[in-house]
Amino acid sequence: MNLHEYQGKEILSSFGVRIQRGLVAHNAQEAVDAAKRLTNQTGTSWHVIKAQVHAGGRGKGGGVKIAKNLNEVEEIAGNIIGMRLVTPQTSAEGKRVHQVLVAEDVYYPGDSDHQEYYMSVLLNRSTGRNMIMYSTEGGMDIEEVAEKTPQLIFTEQIDPTIGLLPFQARKIAFNLGLAGTSFKEMVRFVTSLYKAYVESDANLFEINPVLKTSDDLIMAVDAKVTIDDNALYRRKQYAEMRDLREESPIEVEARLVGLNYVDLSGNVGCMVNGAGLAMATMDLIKMAGGEPANFLDVGGTADAKRVEEAFRIILKDSAVKAILINIFGGIVRCDRVAQGVVDAYNNMGDSINVPIIVRLQGTNAELAKEIIDNSGLAVHSAVQFQEAADKVKEVLA
Ligand code: GDP
Ligand code: MN
Repeated sequence: MNLHEYQGKEILSSFGVRIQRGLVAHNAQEAVDAAKRLTNQTGTSWHVIKAQVHAGGRGKGGGVKIAKNLNEVEEIAGNIIGMRLVTPQTSAEGKRVHQVLVAEDVYYPGDSDHQEYYMSVLLNRSTGRNMIMYSTEGGMDIEEVAEKTPQLIFTEQIDPTIGLLPFQARKIAFNLGLAGTSFKEMVRFVTSLYKAYVESDANLFEINPVLKTSDDLIMAVDAKVTIDDNALYRRKQYAEMRDLREESPIEVEARLVGLNYVDLSGNVGCMVNGAGLAMATMDLIKMAGGEPANFLDVGGTADAKRVEEAFRIILKDSAVKAILINIFGGIVRCDRVAQGVVDAYNNMGDSINVPIIVRLQGTNAELAKEIIDNSGLAVHSAVQFQEAADKVKEVLA
């Protein structure tokens, strides 16, 4: 689950990580009030207005602007809220902005003695360890730095059973070229950032930029945070931060009926039981010259109700030109699944307007094929993997 910058910063702050302070506003008037309150708190009269959407590159898209007085706060916030923000990380239609973060300007005007770094904490799946990635080249595209000057990106591997050791935090501060106050600040920053990552069950904390102010404070100016979905049951306070407006509407609906669905960009809808088989099925579709429109694991009980729910979700994607149902009948017998498909199809009447290929394998597979073939419905049946692939090719042609 992804979070907004302001939510990520809230979490960081609760773990003692210094952040650029700010308040959320939903309209221009709230932004002005927020700016006034911040000025009382921080003493700075300049503010930065930042669009809150789940996408990076907001600065480049015009979603991060400096306001030098309250009139500008009102004008900029008014312009940004409600706009469709297009950034290098959004689609061409962009993302609607519902709220902005009004933050203190921490790049003190006229003072160029500040420095931007990059830092992220994430899981390195190949070593099974957590890792801190960091670079002196912050603020800009880290992908570009990784491509052109990979030697400027450092990593620190952390054994999850031991945790971050003090010498590792000092090494990071040293490699970033810091000394004195800013060195101590960075050690504190890294230590509390790592603690925030572990104790919030996050998959990712990416801070770009980490800022060294001209008075040697180290703080998070941006925050991209992803919390592990599987941990949300025990992190209720973060689960509540979910903003459904930022997520694919089809995925949100699928989650409500308990289907494991991921929206993809292709044209062949998939209905499969088991995540491994679902991935193999997506490969199969590609080999047949199609592109999967989704990943969908219907789980263990592929009965009529479940199949119907899955049909409805898949068909919400208007790009779908065919649906491939690939079910392995182990505990659920294939003939029951086949009957489920037939019942669901009959229940849904005309709303199924694309060809359907059903491949059932496992207990009673032959009987299942008979049920499908004798149903009189426009459903193609297959038993072998290859047969199913050929049928997909056929209906797409
Ligand atoms: P992103 O573009 O979505 O990654 O959004 P960021 O939060 O990283 O902001 C983009 C850029 O705005 C940063 O790299 C900073 O250079 C700049 N920025 C952010 N906060 C301030 C600020 O308080 N003052 C000034 N002058 N620039 C800021
Ligand atoms: Mn950023």
